Amino acid sequence: MFTRKHVLFLQKTGPFSVLSMLSSKTFLNLVRTSRSRMLSSFSPKPAERTADHAASIWVEFTTLAAETKAVNLGQGFPDSPAPKFVTDLLENLSKQPELTAAHQYTRGYGHPMLVYILAKMYSHFYNVQVDPMNEVLVTVGAYLSLYYAFLGWVNKGDEVLIIEPAYDCYYPQVKFAGGVPVPVVMNLAEGATSASQFTIDFDDMEKKINNKTKMLVINNPHNPTGKLFTRQELEKLAEIAKKHNLIVIADEVYEFHVWDKNDMVRFASLPGMYERTISIGSAGKAFSVTGWKLGWAVGPKQLLEPLKAIHQNCVFTCSTPTQMAIAQAFQLDWPKFLNDPKNSYLASGLSGELRDKRDKLARMLEEGNFRPIIPDAGYFMLADYSHLKEGLKLATEQDPDDFVFSRWLCREKKLAVIPPSAFYSSREQKEKNSNMVRLCYFKKNETLDAAEVILKKLGKE
Ligand code: PMP
Ligand code: GLN
Repeated sequence: MFTRKHVLFLQKTGPFSVLSMLSSKTFLNLVRTSRSRMLSSFSPKPAERTADHAASIWVEFTTLAAETKAVNLGQGFPDSPAPKFVTDLLENLSKQPELTAAHQYTRGYGHPMLVYILAKMYSHFYNVQVDPMNEVLVTVGAYLSLYYAFLGWVNKGDEVLIIEPAYDCYYPQVKFAGGVPVPVVMNLAEGATSASQFTIDFDDMEKKINNKTKMLVINNPHNPTGKLFTRQELEKLAEIAKKHNLIVIADEVYEFHVWDKNDMVRFASLPGMYERTISIGSAGKAFSVTGWKLGWAVGPKQLLEPLKAIHQNCVFTCSTPTQMAIAQAFQLDWPKFLNDPKNSYLASGLSGELRDKRDKLARMLEEGNFRPIIPDAGYFMLADYSHLKEGLKLATEQDPDDFVFSRWLCREKKLAVIPPSAFYSSREQKEKNSNMVRLCYFKKNETLDAAEVILKKLGKE
């Protein structure tokens, strides 16, 4: 029975906080109405394209983490305060109702302030002249840039190469577009301890290319492994893209989450690659405000035109004040990024913090008897739990072990993680890769400390 107590709980917890806008009575009515609708005889068939789509891992595991009040190292978002210089900018706009331009629709393809600063930055990174008015498209998060790119370029039956493990939305998005996702699975050496030991079998990739292959998706820095692709690896991918005339989607949302002397090579900066690449970025990631849901696609005019055709009829324009605040944040940080990196959020603020957190989580995982695979970038880490697994007898018919283990860890030990087999598409690969968990280390110290207590206990069991 769904009671007022459940409502209050759901309203208090993070992912459902939007429901706190409703009174518990209204919310309860909503639930009851939808339940009585479910009991009616009206049962239309949804479009076939949605047929085999179960709840995504984010839906299942974020809900579970909230319900169990677990320490949440699952979904990737920072839980410390957002950078104040960024939120101040939005606050400032919100205090000026008379500034109508900040509160009404703005230019459909992106606020001029934002596309100008993005074009300036990416002209620097790619070493080409990016035209702000034609070669940048602002979207609702990187998610929609990705989706537009598939919808805009993939015809029924076109094949899209996806390097696995892969961020879980690529596969369904390609299928929604009528395309055929073709996985190219990375190898990880036995006993590996570094994300750099994930390697692409380029011969295998080439064998999978035929006259239907249209596109290659590259995610760098990589989610879920934390691998930062080397220049040599990217050059090899560039060679393949050129040889087979592929469009490249470069999902580089973690482009600023790189530390030490690690070199972030943006794919579009490689010789000849700008013309065939749609690069995708995210303000949510760059400025640690994932809830602002602002992203962009950058690429030559001809590659962006189909994305714009979809955007203008589906979204038309993104939130104006958010675009303005992000534009101002880049305007403030970019000169420092170039000339005073120590004081730049994007050059040092983010990455300095992340490196320490990565090291802390790796130590904690070792104490808990996990084998961490140390990432070089991003904010995720994989860790092998095989030693623990031996005592757990997890196997079930329906789910790969890591799903069962992650649910157990969340329910029984109050630590939320993500099962990485969700980042593989075939049953075979899911089963082969179900001995790990993915953890997000971009969490405040209190959260990491609470996780440490759990991991230490686990290590002693
Ligand atoms: N790509 C990758 C690899 C991601 O991890 C994410 C995480 N959200 C996205 C795209 C989507 O980003 P956004 O929140 O800006 O839509
Ligand atoms: N990109 C984040 C992650 O990988 C968040 C995903 C999501 O909530 N859809 O955890």
